[in-house]
Amino acid sequence: MESLEAELERARALEVGALADAIESIGFECTRCGSCCKGETDEPHTATVFPDEVRELQTAGDETAEPEASVSERSTEYDWRDVARPMPYGLTEGEDGLEGETFEWALQTDACGDCRFYEEEPAEGAGDGTESETGTDADAMGSGYCTVHEDRPLICQTYPFSVALGGTSQPMGEAVDEEGIVRAHECEGLGRDIDRADAVEIAQALRERAIRELEEAIAVRDQYRPADAGPGEVVVHDSEGAKRPDGTPLE
Ligand code: SF4
Ligand code: SF4
Repeated sequence: MESLEAELERARALEVGALADAIESIGFECTRCGSCCKGETDEPHTATVFPDEVRELQTAGDETAEPEASVSERSTEYDWRDVARPMPYGLTEGEDGLEGETFEWALQTDACGDCRFYEEEPAEGAGDGTESETGTDADAMGSGYCTVHEDRPLICQTYPFSVALGGTSQPMGEAVDEEGIVRAHECEGLGRDIDRADAVEIAQALRERAIRELEEAIAVRDQYRPADAGPGEVVVHDSEGAKRPDGTPLE
């Protein structure tokens, strides 16, 4: 792999039009099956969320805010732990639960292991025009929906796509299709016709996500100092430093 800095330059040079061409060629329409929001039988849902995305999601429950209000203009309705949990990879099971050091945050899960923002409509509720993850009308679709659709993280805005750059995430296993630098991952909505405007929207988010992931990786690498987590303690390293599981700085 090239250095993270070299990959970041490649990410910045990505052309939205070319990415949109690739997405159109692969084809995609979300069917609201919910697979990318739910956990597996033996593994809870795991999707990376950046620190500023956690803060944005903390304000997603503020129903008094104007739709276009910035994070600073909205009130914080969710605690950090309501939104995010330490990325489990690298943590070990201690006497009092998980412990150790890890990198980055994952979207918080519910008791079923699904993303805590995922809901399913009652059967009678289908067809009422509720927007799905990608804005598809509910007619003839599944019943899953995202309760924080407008504030969902970049990883969710761009699923099932990724770009083939080192240092960027490749969600849910190996790619099942690819076109140029764009990869497509497991998703029952692949191969369906997609509007140019929707393809461009995903392409813009895909480019932004690649840049953000690499900037985050570089910052984590540069800031990392071993934290020597004690028994029963979890330390999370992100681009802003070492933190406790409630998102507060360690020092
Ligand atoms: S993006 Fe794909 S996997 Fe996720 S809900 Fe839509 S169709 Fe299902
Ligand atoms: S934030 Fe929304 S789109 Fe993302 S995994 Fe959760 S329910 Fe799905």
